[in-house]
Amino acid sequence: MSRNNPLGYLTAQIDQWRAAGSYFRLRELQTACEPVSRIDGREVINLASNNYLGLANHPNLVKAAVEATEKYGAGSGAVRTISGTMSLHLELERRIAAFKNVEACVVFQSGFAANAGTVSAILTPDDHIISDALNHASIIDGCRLSKAKIHVFSHKDIGGAEEKLYALRDRPEKKLLITDGVFSMDGDIGPLPALVALAEKYGAIMMIDDAHSSGVLGRNGRGTVDHFGLHGRVDIQVGTLSKAVGVLGGYVCGTRDFIDFLYHRARPFLFSTSHPPAVPASCLAAFDILENEPDRVERLWSNTRRFQSGLRASGLSTGDTETPITPVMVGDTAAAFEYSRRLFEAGVYATGIGYPTVPQGKARVRAIVTSEHTPQQLDRAAELMADVAGRMGICHPMPSQ
Ligand code: PMP
Repeated sequence: MSRNNPLGYLTAQIDQWRAAGSYFRLRELQTACEPVSRIDGREVINLASNNYLGLANHPNLVKAAVEATEKYGAGSGAVRTISGTMSLHLELERRIAAFKNVEACVVFQSGFAANAGTVSAILTPDDHIISDALNHASIIDGCRLSKAKIHVFSHKDIGGAEEKLYALRDRPEKKLLITDGVFSMDGDIGPLPALVALAEKYGAIMMIDDAHSSGVLGRNGRGTVDHFGLHGRVDIQVGTLSKAVGVLGGYVCGTRDFIDFLYHRARPFLFSTSHPPAVPASCLAAFDILENEPDRVERLWSNTRRFQSGLRASGLSTGDTETPITPVMVGDTAAAFEYSRRLFEAGVYATGIGYPTVPQGKARVRAIVTSEHTPQQLDRAAELMADVAGRMGICHPMPSQ
């Protein structure tokens, strides 16, 4: 008996993406994540990772992972609340709490799970969320899962955030004010001091997602709270172990009771198996490096300044970035994808990002600098990016600064 394919509508959608030039294929990384990696059979300068400090393939992390695997096995065997809490998991949580100068910490399987699991656990449908328009997808999904009422303010618009909080000032329900510490598509830093002041004024819970600030901003990479000197004034700090820390996972920091509450109610924590022992072991090795080698973070920033000034000197627009995340603004989605493809052919891997990940007309190629790129690699990459952009007619005047 013949039957129509009930998933045929997906093929139609893919065909539309192909026609619009926004279809992509997964690129294959054939080496470890290195400043120059082999991807799809080609040696390219890799500007497409979140491996900010080069820790993903650091020998100390690899050794810690191997030793933990040999001693404790390849897997943990259960979710955290059954028998999947190993000594290493608890040691890592204590270590992060001390590093971040907070009472307690819980580690989730990913940064995504940390955001989505936390927001959805602490709010009810009666409550309110005041959220920056460019917050990460994991925050948006957490907000939706909580079923709380979502009030979005324009990106970094403090006046807009205050309007929303003011309108809710007499309401008894809980209010959560939430922002990314560093915005992943633009590389700009959230206006944390002003938001913290608003949260205090209106009695809101203050939450930040420091995924791209962990290991990047603050002393030894302690994040935006440390960068702005806001210790004790942010109720919930989320970070990742998957980017600068080089491994995998997300963490949530706050008071002991808040973390205990998440142990009891955060669904990814309760219903998904904990990390293999290699993960907390290698994360612990990464925190040793963060604490003892501050020059890595300094190198990340000097590399960032060098690379971005090279691009700007060639007339490329790097948007509003204030961090190693470097967008090169293109505009049209198909053109951004084509720019990325041609850069790859020329020996630079930087991802094309278009609608719907960023708004229509704001497509870009995003390059991410690491501490381990050499000045020569960065100069070469900037030169090739300018050269290919010039040949494609991508050249934006610098915004006035
Ligand atoms: N928050 C932000 C701002 C991110 O960019 C990301 C990763 N893309 C996450 C959270 C999720 O982190 P993870 O990759 O550890 O799940």
